Amino acid sequence: MTASEELFARALKVVPGGVNSPVRAFRAVGGTPRFMTEGCGAYLTDADGKRYVDLVCSWGPMILGHAHLAVVDALRSAAGRGTSFGTPTPGEVELAELLVARVGPPLESVRLVNSGTEATMSAIRLARGATGRAKVVKFAGCYHGHVDALLAAAGSGLATLGLPDTPGVTGASAADTIVLPYNDLTEAQAAFEVHGPSIACVITEAAAANMGVVAPQPGFVEGLRALCDQHGALLISDEVMTGFRVSERGWYGLPAPHGGPAVVPDLFTFGKVMGGGLPAAAFGGRTELMSQLAPLGPVYQAGTLSGNPLAVAAGLATLKACTPDVYAAVDASSAKVAELASAALSAAGVVHAVGRAGSLFSIFFTGDHLVTDYATAQRQNVARYAAFFHSMLEAGVYLPPSAYEAWFTSAAHDDAALETIAQALPAAARAAAAVPERIAANASAADRA
Ligand code: PLP
Repeated sequence: MTASEELFARALKVVPGGVNSPVRAFRAVGGTPRFMTEGCGAYLTDADGKRYVDLVCSWGPMILGHAHLAVVDALRSAAGRGTSFGTPTPGEVELAELLVARVGPPLESVRLVNSGTEATMSAIRLARGATGRAKVVKFAGCYHGHVDALLAAAGSGLATLGLPDTPGVTGASAADTIVLPYNDLTEAQAAFEVHGPSIACVITEAAAANMGVVAPQPGFVEGLRALCDQHGALLISDEVMTGFRVSERGWYGLPAPHGGPAVVPDLFTFGKVMGGGLPAAAFGGRTELMSQLAPLGPVYQAGTLSGNPLAVAAGLATLKACTPDVYAAVDASSAKVAELASAALSAAGVVHAVGRAGSLFSIFFTGDHLVTDYATAQRQNVARYAAFFHSMLEAGVYLPPSAYEAWFTSAAHDDAALETIAQALPAAARAAAAVPERIAANASAADRA
């Protein structure tokens, strides 16, 4: 028995499924999750001492690589001064100022929370409070955390496990959620025609990255903005994944047609990179809108550990170290990995498509159809991905244990790390090719669980 197998057996007795977040359980790819004991730069080491090039990067936050010196130093120094005071702290002000300065208008005011889930939940509450309306529009395959109202047709772990939605979300909390196909403006127009006066907000991932990576098509977000303006609804851009990862200013900072000032959201949500690997997230927007929050306004939102000094220290150190060079390095390493993977799969005759949005990317083990939404993303041969995944794992490359997740690189993914990936890819592509071609029209739960 390996150390990971022993740990998993122990975990299964005391933790549901042995994990604290479902995708980690390897259910979509089979086998035993690796229990990691150390991260350094581009590498993770598991409990058996095996080293992997990490292409998950903690699902996004570790843009500088693991145990970056500036972040570790900031954490050591903050921990020595105390871990939580339940009072305002100077660091929180500095982090809020930095977020506002980086993104620029319309981000004038931010509130810090502990997770992306809290950020989207709170942004929606604020949108409902500010508009006095109930309905929320979201898109199938977009994941905004495990907020009750947003778990309908969510991507990420629900896509991985083949769950359309989850028991425990009552009809009442889901009744005001309208789920529409991503990248389909006609459906959005139709929904606004019927429900316009009761729609509080539209929430969309700035670029969808939880059904695999699916960029918004030109005109889609512009169209959503126009619909919101026409009907008095707010537009929430969920930048938990993209924020401070795809550029210094996130998706919003990418030149049009991707993001940029052409599409100005009312509210942003952030997480992941801005917490530097610790639990920090935020939501924000114009001062006038954010002033609806308590204690200034009537919309209640709070948190014992919000703005926690350690999380703030890690976030500040990370953002300060995220220079243009870091973004250039991440752009280059992500493009290189995508190119290497695609070339290896092509050489082995595996049909696939590369999904890309800025430096975010994933590989769809699809047929030759275009992937533009959840329905097309689901037409994948996930068995091929599982074979590919395990071959890469064996060769020392840690990929997301699901075909529906983005792959991540960091500024620490240097030539040596890329070479390990390049060496591992041909065998993994052949392993995928050895799995019969079988693209589910709409992969069922059994296919994916
Ligand atoms: N929003 C997006 C776009 C995400 O990708 C995620 C998590 O992956 C969340 C929200 C939820 O963040 P958290 O897992 O920190 O609650």
